[in-house]
Amino acid sequence: MATAKSKEFSVEEKMTALLKLQKIDSKLDEIVILRGELSMEVNDLEDELEGLNTRLSNIEAEIQGVEDFIVEKRGAIKNSEALIKKYETQQDNVKNNREFEAISKEIEHEELEMQYSEKQIREANFKIKQKEEAKKLAQKALKSRETDLKEKKVELEKIIKDTATEEKELEKRSESARKEAEPRLLKAYEKIRRTYRNGLAIVRIERDSCGGCFNAIPPQVQAEIRQRKKIIACENCGRILVDSDLYETVEI
Ligand SMILES: [Zn+2]
Repeated sequence: MATAKSKEFSVEEKMTALLKLQKIDSKLDEIVILRGELSMEVNDLEDELEGLNTRLSNIEAEIQGVEDFIVEKRGAIKNSEALIKKYETQQDNVKNNREFEAISKEIEHEELEMQYSEKQIREANFKIKQKEEAKKLAQKALKSRETDLKEKKVELEKIIKDTATEEKELEKRSESARKEAEPRLLKAYEKIRRTYRNGLAIVRIERDSCGGCFNAIPPQVQAEIRQRKKIIACENCGRILVDSDLYETVEI
């Protein structure tokens, strides 16, 4: 019975049914693409945040390292100070000039050591200042990315929620539009849709060209398409071609 009935359909009716299906499927594709783009943005932001967190902890570890170095140098200065005190006491009890000179040399050496340590501390403090600046920048970037991420996540959840109902509705309509389509044509439709990333299997003629691949369509072929007596595919991409008027009359 169904076969007998399908034979009654004209080419135009078959095309109309397929166009309807295409428009429903394209709307579904749009939802999936939008969601995919947003999830990708969320993923990118999460990656960026991870990178910034790593950078921040690296800077903090570097600062800690420099601070440890300063503590070490301060200890060295204290050591030198104690040694100098000890040497000065020894100088008070020397037996001769030579001994006094030798101790003086030791004191001089410790004083030079202290000066060098102080110079190193000054440099280290400068390094810390620079690293604190870098830390501040990283913290600022981290904070702004965290806000971005929060917003994007809210946006994604909202879109998932908002589109969930529409998506289910469209899926149902896609199912029933599939049932209305002529089986052989539907098979071709599915095959072409799988071939192209934009999921377009039936397109209209736009500016004398195929709306799928923009290959020019000769006027003779365009006239044939407008007659809607047979199904014509684009020679270049294989997509089924319809005239603009038919395309516009089909609503979902
Ligand atoms: Zn084409």
